[in-house]
Amino acid sequence: MKICVVGSGYVGLVTGACLADFGMEVTGVDNDAAKVEVLRAGEIPIYEPGLKTLVRQNMDAGRLRFTTELGPAVEAAQAVFIAVGTPSLPDGSANLQFIEEVAASIGDHLNGFKAIITKSTVPIGTGKLIESIVRRHAGEGQDFAVVSNPEFLREGSAIEDFMRPERVIVGTDDARAQDLMLAIYSPLRVADVPFILTSVESAELIKYASNGFLAVKISFINEVAQLAESLGADIEVVARGMGLDSRIGPKFLHPGPGFGGSCFPKDSRALGQIARDHGQRFRIMEAVLEVNELTKQRMLDKIKAATGDLEGRTIAMLGLSFKPDTDDIRESPALTILEGLLAAGANVRAYDPAAIEPCRALLPDVTYVDDPYAAVTGADAAVIVTEWNLFRALEPQRLKELMRQPTMIDLRNIYEPGKMAAAGFHYISVGRPDGRPSTAVEDK
Ligand code: NAD
Repeated sequence: MKICVVGSGYVGLVTGACLADFGMEVTGVDNDAAKVEVLRAGEIPIYEPGLKTLVRQNMDAGRLRFTTELGPAVEAAQAVFIAVGTPSLPDGSANLQFIEEVAASIGDHLNGFKAIITKSTVPIGTGKLIESIVRRHAGEGQDFAVVSNPEFLREGSAIEDFMRPERVIVGTDDARAQDLMLAIYSPLRVADVPFILTSVESAELIKYASNGFLAVKISFINEVAQLAESLGADIEVVARGMGLDSRIGPKFLHPGPGFGGSCFPKDSRALGQIARDHGQRFRIMEAVLEVNELTKQRMLDKIKAATGDLEGRTIAMLGLSFKPDTDDIRESPALTILEGLLAAGANVRAYDPAAIEPCRALLPDVTYVDDPYAAVTGADAAVIVTEWNLFRALEPQRLKELMRQPTMIDLRNIYEPGKMAAAGFHYISVGRPDGRPSTAVEDK
């Protein structure tokens, strides 16, 4: 089957490569000519484990190609996936400009029945909007069906998530489009992945409600962590005790510097706006977003409390991406923390295994280094912002020898307070008592 995927970003590229791996003939379309150039050369413009190999294998097998020309790709395809961005507008609602442009172009090139499938996260009602735009551009009598097939992949494990999803949502009221979708995803059906076949509107709402709920879990545990700090409790034990209850589950109960990335903040805002558009207030989502902003600020307060006046201090930042195994810094808590540190007059030395270049483009006043030990050299404090595995394996003794002050603020709780204290660190984490080096011997 011939498939066109419009948008070759995180979602479009993974979708295209995985569908090609399912045996489909896929053309990836992007209007960013530089990106297409990179892809055609067998390179990938983002950091995503395993993606380069999968893209290359399928390109070599002749099942995957890339172009800036949407027309011929749409004309040849039976199924057209839309995977362009839907960023936030200033009022929090999703910006549908790219979706509308693509729908119009698809309409201009419609030549017989096709399924037009939205992978992008779009507000409820967008399916209808796409239908009306395509119809206007295609002219009366053209046959097509709109499908909502929201994507749940996580950056960093995107291929595994696409190949082994916990569910696939297919929203359409057209039986032919539904059959087409089931054929496209037949390798997943054979693997017993649950499919939810529903309306476009329900499919669109499932995506927002899922992301909204995950954001609730994160903000909830972050507020419990703050309470744990006041009470002298240990959030890691509390979260484990909560998570063993199967009604709650252990996932997304990790306290930290707040959620970021290209989905949770924007989708939480959009869910609130969708509710307002329908005369409701989604008060929980409003609270979740407020808590998230306060959480990021609280992390800055932690750093300030640990170091005193930040003016002229050198702070090492370990991690910039919003989560490990990605170069994505969109709405990363690291950005808020970096900006706060710079505004307070600190000198920042930052290291991240994948996200230095996108961060440098935004914040050139930071000193970027290519090694975590180089980042902490001469630092008054080290701040762990992203839980890259690499940071779990750092040698505390070596860090201490390189730093001016052995102060670590671990915003991901990757170390044990007792061990860090024993290594001579003043160790501050989230929702747990601080670790302080024993001074009992020297005091005598
Ligand atoms: P992205 O910004 O990485 O990719 C979007 C791509 O679309 C870009 O390469 C851009 O050049 C291209 N594009 C924009 N307008 C175009 C046009 N008119 N013609 C052709 N190409 C065009 O975005 P993303 O992270 O892949 O997200 C895409 C959508 O998927 C969003 O709605 C997002 O909410 C949703 N989503 C993202 C993730 C994630 O983890 N990134 C997960 C699930 C869902």
